[in-house]
Amino acid sequence: METPDELVIVPHTHWDREWYEPHDVFRLRLVHMVDRLLDTLEQNPGYRFTLDGQAAAVDDYLEMRPEQRERVASAVERGQLAVGPFLILLDEFLCDGETIVRNLELGLRSSRSLGPEMRLGYLPDMFGHSAQMPQLLRGFGVRDAMMWRGVPARIDSHAFAWVAPDGSTVRAEYLMDGYGNALDLFALPGQLDGLVREYRDQVASRYGSEPILGMLGTDHSAPPADLMQVVAAANGDAGDGGRADAGRVVLTVDTAEGYVRRVAPEWAAGDDDALAGLPVVEGELRSHARGNLLPGVFSIRTNLKQAMADAERRLSVAERLDAAFGSDDHRAFFDTAWYRLVESTAHDSVTGCGVDATANEVEGRLATAAHVARGVGLRTMERIAASTTPDRHVVANPTGFARRAHVEIRLHDPARLELGSGVQLLDALPEVLGDETMPTRELRKLLARIHGRELFGQLINDWTFTDEGVRFQVAEAPVGDFDLAAFTEELERRIASDPSGERTWRVEIIADPRRVALVGVDVGGVALAELDPTTATATADPVTVGDRTLANRQLTATVDERGNVTIEAADGTVLRDALRLVDEGDRGDSYNYGPVASASAVTDPDEVEISVLEAGPLRGRLRVRRRYAVPARLDARDPDTRSEASVPLVVDTVLELREGEPMLRVDVDFVNAAADHRLRVLVPTVERDLPGSSAAGQYVVTERGRDGEGGWGEFPLPTYPVARFVHAGRTSVLVTKHSEYEVVADERSGDDAIALTLVRAVGMMSVNVHPLRDEPAGAQFEVPGAQYLGTRVRTSFAVLPSAAGWAESGAARWAELLRTEPEVVRGTRGGPAVVGGVAGAGGAAGAADDLPDGAVVEVGGDVVLESLRTVTDASGEAVLEARFVNYRGAAAPLAARAAGVWDRTDLTGAVLEHGVDLATFEMGAARIETFRRRAE
Ligand SMILES: [Zn+2]
Repeated sequence: METPDELVIVPHTHWDREWYEPHDVFRLRLVHMVDRLLDTLEQNPGYRFTLDGQAAAVDDYLEMRPEQRERVASAVERGQLAVGPFLILLDEFLCDGETIVRNLELGLRSSRSLGPEMRLGYLPDMFGHSAQMPQLLRGFGVRDAMMWRGVPARIDSHAFAWVAPDGSTVRAEYLMDGYGNALDLFALPGQLDGLVREYRDQVASRYGSEPILGMLGTDHSAPPADLMQVVAAANGDAGDGGRADAGRVVLTVDTAEGYVRRVAPEWAAGDDDALAGLPVVEGELRSHARGNLLPGVFSIRTNLKQAMADAERRLSVAERLDAAFGSDDHRAFFDTAWYRLVESTAHDSVTGCGVDATANEVEGRLATAAHVARGVGLRTMERIAASTTPDRHVVANPTGFARRAHVEIRLHDPARLELGSGVQLLDALPEVLGDETMPTRELRKLLARIHGRELFGQLINDWTFTDEGVRFQVAEAPVGDFDLAAFTEELERRIASDPSGERTWRVEIIADPRRVALVGVDVGGVALAELDPTTATATADPVTVGDRTLANRQLTATVDERGNVTIEAADGTVLRDALRLVDEGDRGDSYNYGPVASASAVTDPDEVEISVLEAGPLRGRLRVRRRYAVPARLDARDPDTRSEASVPLVVDTVLELREGEPMLRVDVDFVNAAADHRLRVLVPTVERDLPGSSAAGQYVVTERGRDGEGGWGEFPLPTYPVARFVHAGRTSVLVTKHSEYEVVADERSGDDAIALTLVRAVGMMSVNVHPLRDEPAGAQFEVPGAQYLGTRVRTSFAVLPSAAGWAESGAARWAELLRTEPEVVRGTRGGPAVVGGVAGAGGAAGAADDLPDGAVVEVGGDVVLESLRTVTDASGEAVLEARFVNYRGAAAPLAARAAGVWDRTDLTGAVLEHGVDLATFEMGAARIETFRRRAE
């Protein structure tokens, strides 16, 4: 048998940037570690160090030690210090595909500012790996990956070919014994040689004659300064003359990339046949065979997952509208916002498996990213507003799909307007904005309230003084002129008429009658549409609303007295008893759900109220309020039992159906009242004994079975991650945040159901004794914040009956339309107006006569436009870039319309194909394709 005769030691540290301590605590340790590391590298030219594959560690260091930049860059240039290619070691399932692209983009930018980056997709600790990672890495020209968790049990060699659903392949170096496998070899001084030989014998079958990889480092570890001396001594001893030793193992030191280059030089050089002898693994890596996957992170602290999805969506929308309709350069703003967002995707950050302080910081950071998006978005909408007059609105659709938009506007004087059929009146807004009395001597303070013509957020259109008082007529849009000098003169005259100053005046501020109105309008993909409520027309498929029903031609939803819903689709598919809730005890921790005795599950409400909120014809809404009595917590004496004491849990579910839509929109809203539990909602699949499910996320739809592969000591609970949509049987559930689902056998119906987790509340970061996991996932720290007591949780999703399958029912398209609503703004041309609730805020963006007439980019099929932004090309020019994803497992036409000449590029912007016709371009199965419009 061939036997390895070399052990390549890769000194590294695994830098969990925030986890059981917040970021700044760990950063302080990092700075001291790198300070010492730089000395060690300079004193030992043969030393190599891998800084964990994430450039954020270097950025964090240099922010505190800017004067060390040259030393760091020099170590990188000498090949002693390996940095990048990621910005952060992300959780691969709790962010969008686009966010992974930006992670690599930002990571490469940071790394390259110092020198050549590590060209290895280093994924040492992620809790499983998403299917498109090989395609994403190859898109950046990276051909190798290195990982630990998630690899199936059948892989017993140190490398395999990892293939994405489109066929993109990377060579995967498998850290079968984890990312610290060499630590034990150095643990006992003087026994290095013996331990190395022992380890070599243990792993020889995995390596054949190839050198063994020895990862020397662990979480937040500092590298041994005397490593080179220890290695030299060991090699010297082993090679001691006269005693020729056939069992000798030479020790060498290299970076992680250096090791991969050693064992697979042909592959690195571009030989695509070089992986021919390796086993092949396709798609996502979610086996529990040799490492824990910790799937409970998908449901703990669910508001973090919402914050991530919100920030991702808002940034993407802001980028699209800015690129399509803006006129300013906001690239620096987007870079800052994406950096905040990408930082938050770290595998101990958005996952919520750290302490409360960490979770709070992540949530704040994600909010900051969203604020940047809001700032740019407002600026762009102000510019769009300047293109039309205040009696009209403009709707902006950021998705690539032409759509029916339903937008809410505030309508003036609706009684006097001739409204089109495409308008549904909602709530009336208050007309009396002010009604008070004041003595003459205080009347001048009215002048302090008036700014130009603005008063209380609206514009003064008229004013009248009588002997009793003064009355202002205000509105959101100006009518005629307001003469402040004339008003002031009249005010002074009235003040002069009462020398005592004691007379009282009634001061009224009366707004025009206003109502919130829902208006339907058709708008192209990434396009604008003017909206005029007097001519807006309804579709031929209006919504009718009864006491307990919502219906259009495509779908009927009926609520029964228990609050359960029957959903009937036009094709005859009937989902009975949908949206039941199941509340179960949870004795686990932030990493893993821990089941308790199932008899304690609460499945029925004590009380149900159903009310009609909106009666159509554009949008119907029913509210189902259910009151449950749920156990307050686990029993303190017996963690397998829930407490006798119960608390009321009030869950509001708003069902919404819109004209022309085949899906039932659902919004579940409650304030969590109980500890140690998991609350899920069930959506029937109308089938039983299903083999599995199809779930979207990270630019792919993944097929998953009902059972996971176990082996390591963690029960493979088949609770899975989903973003966008999950399909099983005859149902698709479309989600708007990073969520957790499971296909479960529903005892009541006998059929399978998709269980979507609404909240999972526990009080410990990691428990030492867990019913489903042998090894603790971290320290046994209390995390009271993860109980979510008193925390409001909202979950918005939609049920799309899909008897023909997710692709045929258009789940990818409907999921995109569900999560991205169009923007709307009142026109400001020709005068000041109220924008965003503030008078006079508009108009600042200047004239907008050059807005595009048609759609900027519009797709005709169900390929999804995932990103549209302004980027800087190689020559420094600002150009438009569009990225599309084909979620289908078969080729599909892109069928896109867009002005200009477009080149197809890789993810770095390098041109692969010149002058592509977007209308006829064929998107391969599961392909991510990027195009750049040529500068004019
Ligand atoms: Zn980690």
